[in-house]
Amino acid sequence: MTNHWFPAYIGLGSNLQGPVRQLENTFGLLDDIPGTRLIKRSSLYRSAPFGGVEQPDFVNAVVALMTCLSAPELLAELQRIENERGRERDDVHWGPRVLDLDLLVYSDQIIDKPELKVPHPGISERNFVLLPLAEVAPGLNIPELGQIETLDVNSGEPAISRIG
Ligand code: ADP
Ligand code: MG
Repeated sequence: MTNHWFPAYIGLGSNLQGPVRQLENTFGLLDDIPGTRLIKRSSLYRSAPFGGVEQPDFVNAVVALMTCLSAPELLAELQRIENERGRERDDVHWGPRVLDLDLLVYSDQIIDKPELKVPHPGISERNFVLLPLAEVAPGLNIPELGQIETLDVNSGEPAISRIG
């Protein structure tokens, strides 16, 4: 943990075991991470699954945090919460999950390791990340990608709608 506060943006997704309730509970769990405060949460969005696996629709959201944790420390906390919510580590990639927490953006840092890529490589291609991220952080300048409003909403992707 450092003495400085850094902004971080987290993508949340769930399509099992009451996805809306899973996300509502997770907002509190994120605020409870040591040295971390939840600053803002997006609306909830419903999106059709991605990646060709037959499964229920996803509910997605994005939150803005301020944290004294480093990016790897924050990722470890996100993985702890995923595991505590019953996420199986060997889940199918792009398959159904109780809770998926992705570190989308961490301050102005660029990290490119297999276990931690920041900014998250899915940002520019996933409407279920792009739309809620633009809602919580209008004008956000994402390292290597530029201003969020300049990124194209992907019209080839499954439909997404705001559900409240
Ligand atoms: P996805 O979120 O793309 O559906 P998973 O959640 O199953 O896939 O992928 C988890 C793996 O991705 C973890 O092993 C984690 O170390 C790695 N990973 C790399 N960058 C990130 C990031 N920015 N946020 C979350 N996990 C990441
Ligand atoms: Mg993930």
